Amino acid sequence: MRLKKIIQKKKHKEFEEYRIGIAGNPNVGKSTVFNSLTGMHQHTGNWTGKTVSNAVGKCKYKDKEFVFTDIPGTYSLMTNSEEEEIARDYICSNDSDVIVVVVDATSLERNLNLVYQIFEITSNVIVCVNLLDEAKKKGITINLKQLSKELGVPVVGTVARKKKTLVDLLQTIYETSKRKLTMDPNRIQYAQTTRDIADEGTDTIDFKDEIVFDIIIKSQEICQKVCKYKKGNYKKKDERIDKILTSKFLGIPIMIAFLGVIFWITIVGANYPSQMLSNLFGFIQGKLYILFEAMNAPVWITKILIDGMYLTLSWVVSVMLPPMLIFFPLFTFLEDLGYLPRIAFNLDNCFRKSCTSGKQALTMCMGFGCNAVGVIGCRIINQTREKIVAMLTNVFVPCNGRFPLLIVVSSILVSILGITSGASFISTLFVLLVILFGIYLSLIISKILSITLLKGEKSTFTLELPPFRKPQIGKILVRSIFDRSLFVLGRAVVVAAPAGIIIWLLANIGIADVTLLQYIVNFLDPLARLMGMDGHILTAFILGIPANEIVLPIMLMSYLKSGVMVDLENSKTIFDIFIQNGWTAITAINVMIFTLLHFPCATTLLTINKEGRSFKWTLISFIVPTMCGIIVCMATNLIYQLIM
Ligand code: GDP
Repeated sequence: MRLKKIIQKKKHKEFEEYRIGIAGNPNVGKSTVFNSLTGMHQHTGNWTGKTVSNAVGKCKYKDKEFVFTDIPGTYSLMTNSEEEEIARDYICSNDSDVIVVVVDATSLERNLNLVYQIFEITSNVIVCVNLLDEAKKKGITINLKQLSKELGVPVVGTVARKKKTLVDLLQTIYETSKRKLTMDPNRIQYAQTTRDIADEGTDTIDFKDEIVFDIIIKSQEICQKVCKYKKGNYKKKDERIDKILTSKFLGIPIMIAFLGVIFWITIVGANYPSQMLSNLFGFIQGKLYILFEAMNAPVWITKILIDGMYLTLSWVVSVMLPPMLIFFPLFTFLEDLGYLPRIAFNLDNCFRKSCTSGKQALTMCMGFGCNAVGVIGCRIINQTREKIVAMLTNVFVPCNGRFPLLIVVSSILVSILGITSGASFISTLFVLLVILFGIYLSLIISKILSITLLKGEKSTFTLELPPFRKPQIGKILVRSIFDRSLFVLGRAVVVAAPAGIIIWLLANIGIADVTLLQYIVNFLDPLARLMGMDGHILTAFILGIPANEIVLPIMLMSYLKSGVMVDLENSKTIFDIFIQNGWTAITAINVMIFTLLHFPCATTLLTINKEGRSFKWTLISFIVPTMCGIIVCMATNLIYQLIM
């Protein structure tokens, strides 16, 4: 204990801590700077508003330990939304020794507005002019020395994607920490008394209109002095592409085509590795039986661990991992390119008609990965009313846990219908239709909520279309494989392991020859039949509430009354089991609909509860999609029965 204390003391002496806040407008490269310096993996992406909370990371430099805080992007300190409030609170709190304001070299004038506002809060500011490579392409050169003179604080130029350009920034931070560099901001002499605006360290700011105007004029003036512009057609190329991608007639069809291609590649590509993984797990399973037998393990332990836990786990991994490893890199590619804000732009009109915010489209895109992430992302929406609508409807886009189930059932539907040629194309089409239906329904539900429970004004918002940026393939792969796929998989595995044991117990413990699982199935069967499904399916959805990934394994285990999972080596087995248990086309259709429309998983519910700070909204978020699912399934079933 004493030794530990001595070591800690020594460490403290060796590395003095220096706290740095990284502030700036959205999408200027703050997270890229932060990740490069700290080696962390904060979310980066070419769109406004993806950082919604503070992240902290450390880096040692010479005799100092720098503690960096990456704060959400903000255009000004007059807060509009929750994530901007977090940024404002941090800057005003004096929690840092210095604030590095990252500014976009291609639009310095707008970015300087924030710099001048921060000057009113603290003198300890370093300006980091990032995206110098993009500025060069656009024919913009900035005299950094002169800028530093005009502002009265150190200015460093960087290209955050190239790590070596950040050395100067580190050195500058180091020198300020040693008080070798002075930071004496040239504050604007406002017509109003400046101190009306804010005292250093205060947490309330009230920038009056006249003062904002003064800041704009001053920023213009400085830019005229330090920036030189060459004429070029760089912007025109972006504009031409945008004209097509966001055109009234082509915008939405192109978006659907992009989604379709991503789903198709995922469906076609996932089959083969899924099969390989299944074979591998089947092989290991055989070896495990031999091992347990050699260890003289009791039969019930062998059954619980192998038939219950191991098989559920192997199902979850082999069904989920391959589609994730294909879907996430493709989706991240579009994100890095800057396509997501274009989707929001295209859908803005539809969301406006539903009395909600166009930013909801962005949060829905995030929901494709994980609905809990999508719900947290709703912080980018300024108005509370619209934020809650977006949170309640986020579950209408299938997350990664539901996606593989949609793919499997859609392929089964194609087989039931006897389609052989172009089977993968048709099953992609089915998945796409279900997803478009989900988006359509979320618009309708948003409208209903906006005229009933969540009545209120529509907010106006400006959506920034970022320039297209060349995606970094290496980073996309690392981010989508480690930060997304393996993270989601890890969560699923943690839930699936105990769930596998519980489900096995339910399927094997019984009263008078009827298992507990069968009792639940029998109880739910009448309702499920009305919905065009059966008790096994509904039970699987309910028991799968910890994570949607385990719905399919439970369904199969429930059908196989022996309580043992299927032999994974045979890919046709799932199809055969479903057919033997009376599945028809309408069963498959309703399972797809219910996969899209049912209660959120436990993680998402907890997140909604935390973000919405009310049990009422959590309850509504459970009821709304579930009722939609029940009603739509019943209606589909009824129509089918009438036609047939
Ligand atoms: P933040 O919103 O300010 O945190 O911005 P990010 O760090 O997420 O960066 C936004 C986008 O700009 C990402 O696609 C980055 O890869 C890209 N980016 C960041 N810095 C640079 C840079 O210096 N040059 C170029 N070309 N792209 C950059």
